[in-house]
Amino acid sequence: MNRLVVKIGSNVLTREDGTLDITRMSAITDQVACLYKDGYEIILVSSGAVASGRTEVTVGQSLDDVSSRQLYSAVGQVKLMNRYSDLFSSHGIVCGQVLTTKDSLSQPGQYENQRHCIDVMLSSGVIPIVNENDTISLTELMFTDNDELSGTMARMMKADMLLILSSIDGLYDGDPGDPCSQLVPLVSVGDEEGVSSYIRPVTSSSGRGGMKTKCGIAIKVAREGIPVVIANGRRPDVLLKLIRGDEDMPCTRFSI
Ligand code: GLU
Repeated sequence: MNRLVVKIGSNVLTREDGTLDITRMSAITDQVACLYKDGYEIILVSSGAVASGRTEVTVGQSLDDVSSRQLYSAVGQVKLMNRYSDLFSSHGIVCGQVLTTKDSLSQPGQYENQRHCIDVMLSSGVIPIVNENDTISLTELMFTDNDELSGTMARMMKADMLLILSSIDGLYDGDPGDPCSQLVPLVSVGDEEGVSSYIRPVTSSSGRGGMKTKCGIAIKVAREGIPVVIANGRRPDVLLKLIRGDEDMPCTRFSI
């Protein structure tokens, strides 16, 4: 296994006040750098543009949802990429930005161009950092969230594994806040009917995704033979431990 798609959610990358959590970004890029040096090809799908842009600009007038998403993502994406670029360059690694839309990926020519771009980045030793182009992806034609985008990337790039880093350890068999609820360690695709009752339509505070879309995407991707892991991006060394097979790292795995 050597090609990984790693999705990092907004709640992993931002503090409670919405600003970018540089300590966490640094911890995650350190782990990605370590895997890169071990020979893995890594594609990051990173959220956090809208969340980090929101804390950057003060708007005089009240903006509707579309305008504020456009404004915050335009400002926040620059901040996000500047940080990634600085953090990766401290490891001697070059990263590059890939902004995409669901609309363009639904067109065969553009899909092929996008795949080719990421392929050439990987073969040149550059880490692609993918996000939806929130400045032009609006309402009907946008990805449900970056979980869906990460699933598309994993399938398009024929990844060996998709890792979805969230602010929760994985799928629980009840309310995650209830101490009686248990983490579901494995969802065997084909047997997913049993877990559908656990999936609650709740989203996190700063991202668009929730466990419902995460599980839906995970099942779809796993069905194509790509194993998926949902884990807590706030846990120290989460990526390294998952990839190195540390059994003690809590997570939910989806596979056939
Ligand atoms: N593309 C959005 C951002 O960068 C995040 C979407 C999501 O929460 O999944 O802020």
